[in-house]
Amino acid sequence: MACSYCKKECSWREFCSHECKIKYDKFHEDMKKNARTYLIGALGPVLLMIPGFIFLNYAFIFMAAMVFVMGATFIVLPYSTSDTVKIYGVEGSIRFTRACGIIFMLFGVLLLFMHTVLM
Ligand SMILES: [Zn+2]
Repeated sequence: MACSYCKKECSWREFCSHECKIKYDKFHEDMKKNARTYLIGALGPVLLMIPGFIFLNYAFIFMAAMVFVMGATFIVLPYSTSDTVKIYGVEGSIRFTRACGIIFMLFGVLLLFMHTVLM
């Protein structure tokens, strides 16, 4: 069996150390506490597509803002699906989600660049 938090191999327990157990509980507690903020931050930006469709000249800017806010949300609140947590452990899933957040933000920079070049 592997530790549910850090995925380190531990023979029979769910966690390799007491510290991992505490971090694991805190992660899920925070996730519950921040669930609403997370949903707003991760899905709310999709609404930016609406003005993007109306003001087509600024479509790239609205899209950039959308992926920026989403990316920032993933970095500040690194919650992913329970499947991801199961596969990578809590620690790994946090790293994975933050990496996605960084990619989103870089994509935002690319969109801003495209706006400057194409518009
Ligand atoms: Zn551990």
